[in-house]
Amino acid sequence: MKREHEEICCRPVGETSAGWDGLAAAIFPSSVYRCSDPDSADRLLAGEQSGYVYQRDGHPNGDFLREKCRALHGGDWALLGSSGMAALSIATLTLLKPGDDVLLSDRLYGRTTQQLTQRWSQLGISCRVVDTLDLDAVAKSLDQSAGKTRMVIVETITNPMLRVASLHDLARLAHDAGSLLYVDNTFATPFVCRPLDFGADLVMESVSKMMNGHSDVMLGALMGRGLSEAEFQDTLSVWGLASAPFECWLAMRGLATFHLRMERACESAQWLSEQLASSSFVETIHYPGLATHADRDTVEKQFFEGAAGSVLTFDLPGGRDLAAGFIKRLEGIPFAPSLGEVSTTLSHPTSTSHRRLKPADRERLGIHEGTIRLSVGTEPKEWIWQQLCDAFAAN
Ligand SMILES: *Cc1c(COP(=O)(O)O)cnc(C)c1O
Repeated sequence: MKREHEEICCRPVGETSAGWDGLAAAIFPSSVYRCSDPDSADRLLAGEQSGYVYQRDGHPNGDFLREKCRALHGGDWALLGSSGMAALSIATLTLLKPGDDVLLSDRLYGRTTQQLTQRWSQLGISCRVVDTLDLDAVAKSLDQSAGKTRMVIVETITNPMLRVASLHDLARLAHDAGSLLYVDNTFATPFVCRPLDFGADLVMESVSKMMNGHSDVMLGALMGRGLSEAEFQDTLSVWGLASAPFECWLAMRGLATFHLRMERACESAQWLSEQLASSSFVETIHYPGLATHADRDTVEKQFFEGAAGSVLTFDLPGGRDLAAGFIKRLEGIPFAPSLGEVSTTLSHPTSTSHRRLKPADRERLGIHEGTIRLSVGTEPKEWIWQQLCDAFAAN
C-alpha cells in the first residue's frame, strides 16, 4: 500500500458536528433528522443539498467510513451495505435485468455463486460459470453471449487455493464485450491490491473481515469508478440494504489500525509460507508470495510490493481424521470459519465453505480433506510457527 493510503486509515475524520472537537468521531444513532423548512427538505430528499433526513438514506458515521473506503480504493464513490452480501446485492440489483447474462468465476465465495446461480436465475438472468484464470475460456464465453453479458464477477485472491487472475486482462475482455468487471477484493484488501487501478468498474470489500479486523462487525463496501453513484444509492435505500451507525463507528476504529495489522500479517504469512515450504509436515503450500506460486507473474504486476495477503493454505497428507486431530491439537489457533481477525484462525474448507460442493468439483479445485486455510493474525510469527510445529509433530 502506498504511504498516502496508509495515512487514510489512521487520520481522524474532520468535524463531525458544530462545536465537536473530539479526536474520535461521535456516534449518530438518530433514525431521523429535523428539517429546517419545506424547501430545504425538498432539496435534501432530491439529493440536491447535502445533509441528512432519514438513516436508511445516509448518516454521518456511514459517510465517515465510506469516504475512507473510497480513498483507499481510489474510487469515484463508495457505498456501504449491512454486510458484504448486501454490497453485492447493491451492485446486482442495480445492474441486472431479465435477459441479461452474468459470467462468474468458478472459484467464488459460496453465497455469491448461490445468489447468482440460484436466485438471479429465477428472475430471468442466466449465468455462465468459467475458469477466469483461463482468459481464452472467458473470451469464448463472452463471444457466445453476444453482448448480453452485463457483469463479469471475480475475486482478486480466490478461496482457499489463493489463485490470482489478471484483472487487467479481464477488464479488457469485459469492456470489449460491453460488460462490466466486478471484483470481490475481500481476501486481498486495498493493502494488497486496488482492482479499480487495473480497470475494474466495481470493487467490493466484506468489511466484516480484515478491514474491520476485530470479529465484531458485519458490513460491506462497494466502490465504483464511473457509473452513477445515485443509482446504486437508490438501490440501497429501496431494498433496505443500509449500514447501521454503530457498526460504521466500530469499523472506523478497526480501520484505524488496518495498515499496521496487514503489514504485520502479510510479513508473517510470507515467512510462515517459506517455513512450511521447506518443512516435511505438509504436502503442498499455497501462498501468492512464494516464487513457486502458479500465478506469480500476475501477482508481481497486480499486488503492492511485499504484500501477498494474510491468508495461506496448506495440505496435510491424509484424510479428515488426520485433519481433525491436527485442528484439535492446535489449541492456540481457533477453528473459526472466517478470516481477517487480529488473532490467527484456521478453517477447514471441506467441512465449511466448500461443504456444498460435489467431491469431484472439490477435487478439480485441489481441495482435500487435509486442506487447511490459515488466516494469519498479529501474534509474533515465531509463536504461530511453534503452535503449528507442536500440532504437526504429534501427527
Ligand atoms: C465473507 C465474504 C463475503 C461476504 O461478506 P459478509 O460480510 O459475510 O456478507 C464475500 N466474499 C468473500 C470473499 C468473503 O470472504
